[in-house]
Amino acid sequence: MTAPGWRLAGVPVLVAGGGAGALAEVVQLRERGADVTVVAHELVPALEDLVDRGLVARGADVTEAEVVAASRLVVDARTPAERSEGPDVLQLAAVAGIPAYGLETDGQATGQEAGERAGSVVLVGGGPGDPGLLTRRGYDALWAADVVVTDRLAPVSLLADLPAHVEVVDVSKIPRGRFTPQEEINRVLVEHALRGRRVVRFKGGDSFVFGRGYEEVLACREAGVPVEVVPGVTSAVSVPELAGIPVTNRGTVQGFTVVSGHAAPDDPRSTVDWDALARAGTTIVVLMGVETLPRIAVALLAAGRDDRTPVACVMDGGLPSMRTVRTTLAALAADGVPEGLVPPAVTVVGDVAALS
Ligand code: SAH
Repeated sequence: MTAPGWRLAGVPVLVAGGGAGALAEVVQLRERGADVTVVAHELVPALEDLVDRGLVARGADVTEAEVVAASRLVVDARTPAERSEGPDVLQLAAVAGIPAYGLETDGQATGQEAGERAGSVVLVGGGPGDPGLLTRRGYDALWAADVVVTDRLAPVSLLADLPAHVEVVDVSKIPRGRFTPQEEINRVLVEHALRGRRVVRFKGGDSFVFGRGYEEVLACREAGVPVEVVPGVTSAVSVPELAGIPVTNRGTVQGFTVVSGHAAPDDPRSTVDWDALARAGTTIVVLMGVETLPRIAVALLAAGRDDRTPVACVMDGGLPSMRTVRTTLAALAADGVPEGLVPPAVTVVGDVAALS
């Protein structure tokens, strides 16, 4: 919604509202460089996650004049319910002489009822988070949607530009934080589609790479709902690439293996043969593995991998907050998780991790 080209680098912006509409607006403002403070009684999971990670500030009540006065731009992105409970934010800003605009958010999807039009579900892989890395087909599906069911790692800033009637539902899973159970997500997708709506399930990366996309396809099929999958740019390859790291390189390494690190090598739930992986001679790309990295390093070293093997951890790939931490297997095993390394991150283990 914010006009493209507005320069907001370092500009303090106050956003009132904690729903999915506010989320999209906040992420879009951040992409323009703004310092965002969000004010709401309740936040959707992805917004709460941004606050917990220190990327967005959370303000006191918007009625407090100093909150408005500390801003150079005020955005009213509240849902109708939030608006009915709070003050007139635009009026407060006007009195303080601060530019402000309001958004219509959290529309109720206006799809017809079953029988009039067949609903459908499209799983859209959104890429690593930069709106420019969504595919053309994914973009078209998004713009044709009545309902968007989104994750936090998708390029959510795009949702701020959707027509006001589009209903956005945030079902983000936060590591060790809030989450919507998969069965509930499946139920939401199927229910909206059965009411004749075009539903987009919007995910980070590719839906079939640790995305539980196939489970959602099955749930739709079982309910007789037409379902389509639009491939996405997976973070496994693109996030290292955005940091300048090629996962293969002629003369260096002839392949790469992508594994989930959510279960450490010594965890009984792990089904990965880490010994074989250590000897495979490929680059190892670890997703969902920040906390378990030191135990992964120990396992790879025990299986004979060189202790000087370079490791690169790329956080927030494709986002303004992207950062790379470089280390070695030996340092990881000895010192634990490097200072400041937090999810989401893609970790690359192998000689290519020293390139940039
Ligand atoms: N389906 C996704 C992966 C989902 S699992 C894909 O294909 O990319 C979630 C993990 O993906 C995170 O724990 C992190 O390891 C990785 N990830 C996704 N987006 C990322 C980003 N922008 N920056 C860093 N890591 C990311």
